[in-house]
Parts: sequence; structure tokens; C-alpha cells
Amino acid sequence: DILNEPIEIRDPELREGGNQESGIRENKFAVLTSHSPTRNLRPPIPSEIRFEHVWFGYKSDEFVLRDLDFTIRPGEKVALVGPTGAGKSSIIRLLCRLYEVTRGRILLDGEDIRNLPQAELRQRMAVILQDGFLFAGDVKSNIALGEPYSIDEIRSAAERTNVAQFIERLPQGYDTELRQRGTNLSGGEKQLLAFARAAIRNPGILVLDEATANLDVRTESLIQEALETLLEDRTAIIIAHRLSTIRSVDRILVLRQGTLVESGSHEELLEQNGLYASLYRLQMLES
Ligand code: ADP
Repeated sequence: DILNEPIEIRDPELREGGNQESGIRENKFAVLTSHSPTRNLRPPIPSEIRFEHVWFGYKSDEFVLRDLDFTIRPGEKVALVGPTGAGKSSIIRLLCRLYEVTRGRILLDGEDIRNLPQAELRQRMAVILQDGFLFAGDVKSNIALGEPYSIDEIRSAAERTNVAQFIERLPQGYDTELRQRGTNLSGGEKQLLAFARAAIRNPGILVLDEATANLDVRTESLIQEALETLLEDRTAIIIAHRLSTIRSVDRILVLRQGTLVESGSHEELLEQNGLYASLYRLQMLES
């Protein structure tokens, strides 16, 4: 599954872009960040995301997304909900430009993403996938992803996303080596590390395919709290699996077979008693 591939580091342009970006950041903020990275963190600049009559198919004769037309306001948090195969992951893949739209346009702040350099797109958007990709290497490099962040910045990102306490309990703390794909970590720990990796880059857009792992109550609440911090001041698109996340977003877009069939808040959609209401009841039963 393409969503489980390490897209963040596979693309050489990303590394370039990342370094350029942090170069700028360091020039501007070198004095400010040297002592207190948390207090002086620059606020992210949330973007507007617009899908303009988007059609898309993996094969030329078969559309999996049909005439999607919606706008996500700067700072708005939107959940994508729908049965398996409805097209949620495809929307995320188009936004990351892993595929191109067949018809229509995707705009960030009014600019067609096809006109944005890939490096800029990667800077403005953090993508957290289901099985947060971790590589063999220590904890701090798994958070910094090859960029020249200081240990203070790494710690600060870990603290903001509730993973610091866990890291500090590891035998070598931030220097502890992780196994390929993080097989020595629990699902919840991997998710929190992925949050820290996104937080340190401080992007205006967050795209999240929420992990489905079964979590104990404590980890679940750590994740929920970290997510709320991470979402602050950012535009977000979330494939939401947790009821707590779904309930706390501003708007839910409900998809069926590649078509947008419902849009509204949790309460509005329950009231409508349509597809969302029945999916929600099903999830309630399962959980
Ligand atoms: P969801 O994330 O809502 O489960 P997807 O976006 O993964 O849905 O899938 C939408 C449709 O596209 C499904 O019919 C699925 O079979 C098809 N699809 C997904 N990925 C591919 C691919 N790489 N090649 C061909 N078809 C695909």
C-alpha cells in the first residue's frame, strides 16, 4: 500500500527543501531559538485547501473520485469518513501529489498544486500515515528526519506531543536505536513519535491517516491530547478512525464510492440520519 511507504524521505527534493527551509528558519530565529525553542516557536501559517471539481481514476476508464468540490478554510479541521474503498486515501494521495488529478484542480491558497515545487508542498504539509514510518536509527534522527534540528528542538517537539516521557524511559533516551519500522515500539508509541516528527517541522497543513491500533485508555488519552496540540493553528484533513477525533473536528465529509454525499458537523450529520449516522452507530457498537 502506497500509504505505508516512506514518502517523506524517499523524495530527494524533500530533503533539499527541508534543509533550505530550516536554513531560513535558523537565520531568522537563531537568536530566539537558542534558549527556549518552545516559547519562541513561530506560529504555523494555515492554508486554505480547495478541491475544485476533482475527478480521479487509477485507470483511465474508471473514476474512484467523482466531481469532488469542497473548500477547507485556513485552520479548519476536517474528517474524511466513508466505507472502505470510498476514496479517502486517494484524496490524501492527490493532495500529496503522489498522483495527479484526471480533471479539475486542487488549490492551496488559490494556487494549483501542480504549479508548486514539490519541495514547497512538503514544507507546507506534514503527512502522518497509519503505520508511521520509522527507520533503523536512533530516536532523535527518527524525529529530525535528516534535518539539522538541535536536541532542544527535538525535545520540545517530543514534549508537545506527549512522547517525551516515554522516550526518557528508554535505556539511552533520545539516543536509543529503533529497529526498522519501529518493531520494538507499541502502536501508540509509534503514533506519538510520528506526531513529534510532524510537530518539529511546524507545517500549516496536517494530513493524518489515524492509526487504528487498539490502545489502552491511558495511551488513547495521551494521543488525543497530543493530537489536539498538534492541530492547533493548522488546517487539517484526517482520515479519522477514533470516535473522539471524529467528534472534535469542525466538519465531516462523508464519501461513498468516490462521491461526497454528506458534509456537516457530527451533530448535524446525526440529525440527518444518513450514511454518517449509520456508520457512526456501527462504530459505536464495535467499540
Ligand atoms: P478508502 O481509503 O476510502 O478505503 P481508497 O482511496 O483506498 O479508499 O480506494 C478508492 C478506490 O480506489 C477503491 O475502489 C480501491 O480499490 C481503488 N484503489 C485504491 N488504490 C488503488 C491503486 N493503487 N490502484 C488501483 N485502484 C486503487
